[in-house]
Amino acid sequence: MSSLMYSTAKLLIGTAQFLIQDVPHAFNNALDSYQVVARTPRWTGQEKAKHVIFINLDAISPEQFEEIRASSPMINEAVSSGAISSRMLGTFPAQTSTMHASTLTGEYPERHGIYTVFEQSLDDILFVDQCSVTSNAAVNNRVDCKSKKLTDAAFRRGLTTGSFGFCTTHQDPHISYNIGDMTCTRDAGIAGGIFKKMSTVFALKHMIPAMIRQTLLAPSTYTSPEMIVRLLDDGYVSAAEDVILNHRAHFVCVQQVGYDLASHCFGTRSPQAGSTLVRYTEHLERLIRASRMAGTYEDTVFSLMSDHLIFDIDRYVYLNNLFWRNGLISVAGRKVISCSAYGESVGKSFLIHIADKKRSTKSRVMELLQQNQDAFGIERILDWSELDSLHAGTQYDLACTAVPGVMFVHNLNLSGDIKRDRKIYFKAQHGQDPRGNLTTFAIWGPGIKRGYESGDMNGVDIAPTLVHVLGLDFHCSGGKVLDVFEE
Ligand SMILES: [Zn+2]
Repeated sequence: MSSLMYSTAKLLIGTAQFLIQDVPHAFNNALDSYQVVARTPRWTGQEKAKHVIFINLDAISPEQFEEIRASSPMINEAVSSGAISSRMLGTFPAQTSTMHASTLTGEYPERHGIYTVFEQSLDDILFVDQCSVTSNAAVNNRVDCKSKKLTDAAFRRGLTTGSFGFCTTHQDPHISYNIGDMTCTRDAGIAGGIFKKMSTVFALKHMIPAMIRQTLLAPSTYTSPEMIVRLLDDGYVSAAEDVILNHRAHFVCVQQVGYDLASHCFGTRSPQAGSTLVRYTEHLERLIRASRMAGTYEDTVFSLMSDHLIFDIDRYVYLNNLFWRNGLISVAGRKVISCSAYGESVGKSFLIHIADKKRSTKSRVMELLQQNQDAFGIERILDWSELDSLHAGTQYDLACTAVPGVMFVHNLNLSGDIKRDRKIYFKAQHGQDPRGNLTTFAIWGPGIKRGYESGDMNGVDIAPTLVHVLGLDFHCSGGKVLDVFEE
């Protein structure tokens, strides 16, 4: 009982904090967003369906997707009635924001430019403890995304759109109902961490009830990362149900982030991560049910994906230490004296910038990486030609991926190159297996081939394919319409 009272008190304080700090901001955005709610769609007769529901089951492997299917006759029947690929190549780096941008724009990172989650200066990279999490300021991916999204094309055609938790739609005036992506930090209060980046008053309608629901369901988790995991997915799905049922939205994208977050905090095989897979299943069923209740299921194409893989880690490797020890980075106290090369960590990938752009520096970096490959847990070194073939962009010059168990950390650590500690904060990190970032894609609904295995595909193909379903005008240079449509 006392924990419930404690939770309730925290909830009230959090809400008050939120009302004072964030409502004026949220209200401004709400006005923007609600202006575009009442819309009249213009159909051309080219559309295969008038509704699309696009879901990201964050971070699950193709095997876990099969487990979800096996546990739910409703989902299995739906997925079996359409096309599926367990060989969808996601972006490099294997990361949610990069993949969200690629799937909504049909462009590779080289075009849309989203390759990192955090806005960070060289000082941040080298001196702020990356694994303290709270010190990072999240990038506004919508502002930074250089390519048009399919939601822009939907807006021009007068369609009603919803986006819940997708990274590149934060505060986007072309989205009718929006809950932007949020950065949840370890020790920010619920109000500070969760509501900080919320876009609209619409978000409140769903997030506060979800918070109360989840607090009542599991009061002991109130201040833990587990609560954030529970609350976000619940809130996103209830917002999606609302726009499907009450607003007959035409394009809705729904992020489910629980497995990703729970794996980061507790490990991929933890009970917390396991229970998020159960919730992914229930939530997917809720979305199918909402579409049926709205009477739009027969006119809806469902599409779902997993954006990247996630792997357990047991040690941090401080890879900029290698450049620092060899004179490519020199510092005095917490001040950079000179830096000719440094890397930025994206979990199990390390993106290396040749700061002075000299060919000799690049050769030196290559040599250091090759010589220290085993000692620093480097699985593969990706040179320019390989990054080019992945369309990864030119914001960095080289990259490494980590062997199993290793997470690359970019701040300098004077006390050692490797840290093994049972108390390390990250228990799992984003990455790819040596074949690449291969995950799952499924699509079903009117006009889609039944029981079709669509084989190799790329995440950038999703946008043009969904655009084809809705018959929109949209051009992208990366992806192509998938061969999943009946003749
Ligand atoms: Zn993700």
